[in-house]
Amino acid sequence: MPDWLQSRHALITGGGTGIGASAATHLNAAGAKVTVLGRRAEPLEFVRNIVGGTAVQADVTDRGDIDRAFDEARATNGPIEMLIVNAGIADSAPFAKTTRESWDRIIATNLTAAFDCAQAALPDLLASEHGRLIFVASVASLRGVPYAAPYAASKHGVLGLMRSLAVEFARTSLTVNAVCPGYVDTQMTSDSIARVMAKTGRSEEQSRAAIEGQNASGRLVHPDTIGTMIMTLCLAQSQDVNGAAITIDGGTSA
Ligand code: NDP
Repeated sequence: MPDWLQSRHALITGGGTGIGASAATHLNAAGAKVTVLGRRAEPLEFVRNIVGGTAVQADVTDRGDIDRAFDEARATNGPIEMLIVNAGIADSAPFAKTTRESWDRIIATNLTAAFDCAQAALPDLLASEHGRLIFVASVASLRGVPYAAPYAASKHGVLGLMRSLAVEFARTSLTVNAVCPGYVDTQMTSDSIARVMAKTGRSEEQSRAAIEGQNASGRLVHPDTIGTMIMTLCLAQSQDVNGAAITIDGGTSA
């Protein structure tokens, strides 16, 4: 088993499923101590049983909950030297029918929580010899998305946060980066397919094909492609990758 990450502590929000679970697996395989964080106990325990490490339940829209959960994680695994800000939600609706409640919920989960998590871990990240702050953004951080204005706005905001912190801390040992996936084969995409079916009356096959066609490759990105990139960004050898928004979508779909 390689020990590139030398038992350093990685905390992954939304670590119980999809991209977060894959990041937990790859970070653990590279030698990190892993904490997975989310609201539901069951998926967290599932990942913890496979990967080891620690599972902490918290809602990232609640700053008090974040602080409590991060302290719980530190008590077991030590300072948080790598923070993967991955928890997120999506929804879709025409803009005219998008509710203020949906806007608030998506901005709170995808953007305000990114601010809170980054700030809560900052002293640990700066004290580390190889601090790593990685945001799971989206191709929706880079272009507009019809029927998903709150999601695209939240993910654009995440890139602004990432780029600002990368410049602010450029002279320290902390690096700050983002991965920007296209459609990935996770529950979030299954939910998108279900929404297309419900709203258009298309079959599951047709709806899946429509979503897959949004990626230039014509297929969904495998979560491990994202998990492996996150692990790579955490390596000491990645110290000069800072402020990058790494697109992982199977090819540019202009
Ligand atoms: P999942 O739905 O599998 O993962 C989302 C995770 O976020 C879940 O583990 C969920 O756990 C957690 N989460 C959601 N809300 C909260 C909350 N309030 N507090 C704590 N945890 C929360 O989908 P993905 O793995 O695909 O999504 C991970 C990230 O990747 C998201 O930020 C998403 O926007 C981004 N992304 C996904 C793409 C895709 O095509 N799937 C494309 C581009 C980006 P729980 O419900 O238990 O709290």
